[in-house]
Amino acid sequence: MQLNIITIPVKCDVGGCARHACFEARAEGAPAGTGIYLCKECAAELAGLIARQAGQAQKAKSKGEKR
Ligand SMILES: [Zn+2]
Repeated sequence: MQLNIITIPVKCDVGGCARHACFEARAEGAPAGTGIYLCKECAAELAGLIARQAGQAQKAKSKGEKR
């Protein structure tokens, strides 16, 4: 996965967000335009949420819990 900073005028892919995208997250080697576009705000929020969820998943794993 690669994260590119983009300057083309595209909208953020998050539903309900009308801001312009600043980042494109794309699979390694995939052609341009096949990634997901995120604005700065959504990218930051998503990064925080993922980190939190990953932490919870790690905690549940170490407790031996199954989902
Ligand atoms: Zn957004």
